[in-house]
Formats: sequence, C-alpha cells, structure tokens
Amino acid sequence: MARLPKLAVFDLDYTLWPFWVDTHVDPPFYKSSDGTVRDRRGQNVRLYPEVPEVLERLHGLGVPVAAASRTSEIEGANQLLELFDLVRYFVHREIYPGSKVTHFERLQQKTGVPFSQMIFFDDERRNIVDVSKLGTEWCYLHSRPKRNESASLNSRIRDVCKSPDWALRSSPMNEPHLRPKTERKSRKHFQVHL
Ligand SMILES: [Mg+2]
Repeated sequence: MARLPKLAVFDLDYTLWPFWVDTHVDPPFYKSSDGTVRDRRGQNVRLYPEVPEVLERLHGLGVPVAAASRTSEIEGANQLLELFDLVRYFVHREIYPGSKVTHFERLQQKTGVPFSQMIFFDDERRNIVDVSKLGTEWCYLHSRPKRNESASLNSRIRDVCKSPDWALRSSPMNEPHLRPKTERKSRKHFQVHL
C-alpha cells in the first residue's frame, strides 16, 4: 500500500511562481478584464504553469497543502494566492521572514503532523538544509544551475536531491502515484515529476 505524506508544504517564490514577490514585481496586484493577474505597473504575473494541476492532484489524493514563505511582502504574497485562486488548496499559510524552522514548527503545532510525515518543496538550498534537520522529507526545485538566475517560466529543472520515503510522480499517461522506498532502495537520488 502506497504511503502518502500527511502534509505537503510549498515555498512560494520560485516554487509556485517565477519571481520574488518582494523584489521583481510591484504590488498591489489585480486581475485584469482578460483574467490575467497584473502588478501595479501592469506587468503580467504568472504561476509556473504546472502549479494548479499539482495542487489539484494533491487535493484529489487527500494530501493537505500548506505554504511556508520567508518573504517580507506578506500582503502581496497572500493577494497573489487569492488572485490565482489557490487559497482553497492551502490549509495553512505561514508567510513571514525568518528561518523556515519557525514556519514548520508552527505547522507542526497547528496540524499535529510529525515532521517526518511532511514533504517540503523549495528552490533554496538554505531552506532545505534548515528544514531537513527537523526530519522533514524534501524536494529541491532548481530554477537554474545558479539559484534563481532566470525568471523564465520554462527554465526550471525539477529534481530532488534526497530520497524520500515516497515519490509523487505523474506523466501525461499516469496519475500521480507513489512508490515506497523499498522498491527503489538501490537509488539514493531520483527525480520527482509533478
Ligand atoms: Mg523560493
């Protein structure tokens, strides 16, 4: 029987969208008449294209989702989640500066889910290092060989630097499913495709 994480935690900047909300765009945001989300200057603001599908699939699998972001642009980040119609997926949002250990400790207190049963998606190695010390499984999403080098929607290489107990996988032919670690124990590193 496949085992699923009990909480999937997502970073925001360069994980859900290809920019830093406190630096690269200019809040407040609004939805224009054509449905696109724009910042104060009229700049088009977008998600990574796969994000709604990933969140919907996790929802379908019954895996609760939370946000953990260190951005100082708290209002803008929450506004984007609302404008992109993603709020309904997030059972908790921890959005404030500081070590992500704090974000995770609060998530643990609020949900009761052990760190070891959470999975964490983030593009910054320092966050992965901090949170992995709690025993949380993690997925490291590279934007570029040099972190956050490009804001291109299509430049991100998604791979995972640690073997978690589960692998969420999907392809055009397959629904997301999970492979227990025991089936892949010969490999220390493997890719996760969401
Ligand atoms: Mg990030």
